Amino acid sequence: MSISIAIKKSFAAIIYYSGIVNLLDMANRNTAVILAYHRVLPKSDPDLKFIQPGMYVSESAFEKQIRFLKENFEIVNLEDIADYSGPKRPCIITFDDGWYDNYKYAFPILLKHDIPATIFLATSFINTNNWPWPDRISYYFHNSSNSNLQKAENLLKIFNIKVNTNIKKVNRFDLVEFVIADLKKLENEMLSEFIKELDSIFSNYKNQLMDKRPWLNWEEINEMKKNKISFGSHTHNHVLLTNTSEEQVRFELNHSKKIIDEKLNTNTKLFCYPNGNYNDNVLKICKDSGYEIAVTVKRGFVYQKDQNLSLKRFMLHEDMSNTIPMLAAKLTNKIPSI
Ligand SMILES: [Zn+2]
Repeated sequence: MSISIAIKKSFAAIIYYSGIVNLLDMANRNTAVILAYHRVLPKSDPDLKFIQPGMYVSESAFEKQIRFLKENFEIVNLEDIADYSGPKRPCIITFDDGWYDNYKYAFPILLKHDIPATIFLATSFINTNNWPWPDRISYYFHNSSNSNLQKAENLLKIFNIKVNTNIKKVNRFDLVEFVIADLKKLENEMLSEFIKELDSIFSNYKNQLMDKRPWLNWEEINEMKKNKISFGSHTHNHVLLTNTSEEQVRFELNHSKKIIDEKLNTNTKLFCYPNGNYNDNVLKICKDSGYEIAVTVKRGFVYQKDQNLSLKRFMLHEDMSNTIPMLAAKLTNKIPSI
């Protein structure tokens, strides 16, 4: 644990136990809370050696959080957010991407506590072993020798991506974070080219990673659908919608909806922008494509007056939410760094 996280943790505990933070603060009564998870994994999972800390919560932390949320909120489905009028504050649980661990580790806990959730699927991933590029980069950089890292550094230079650090010395988690953040600024075509080159440098690692299973399949999705889990779109290819052509944006939104509707015999109205990237045009296409509720990665509560196609959420990850005081402090939205 880093020092800053330890300090935040003890600070959160002090304010929680001293009662300064009252989660059910009257001022927040008229707001809903949408939580955003990605992965849920046991602490012993070997993949935690390379998965970015922002991408997961541990199975044990997740169950603790669910118990706390059930006591303090009414956990409702995302579709029901507009009609909810119960006495407790509503809380909505969402998962992005469609990870297999959502079925393996999160779903049994949701089932046990009989609570609903929504999973946003990037439909081209389903039933495949294709790891997304940020995870591939992370796996390559965590496993590679310095000489391969040198090749990666040269490639970054060719693509004009300046990493302002000595990439062989910096902590690998930090390195991955810097590089991913820079790559997210590239146009999609350029990004694809870069990733193709990088995959060829690390082809052995790419094959190793393919042996691990990242994504849900349709049988699992259908089973969850019968048990209070709803599904929305997270595009077809998980592209960042502000870095691509209008034609591609339309395809991503329409095609993924068509697949979900056909596979699940439904008419989904739910959408989640990959990486939270949207602009006015993307928002308009989202509406044209038949979506009525869309979520972002902007932090905050949901107010009744909010525009339904750009709802805020609270992102949860292990470092910042593995104790109840940390979670409670986060959900007051009064301490920006937690
Ligand atoms: Zn995503």
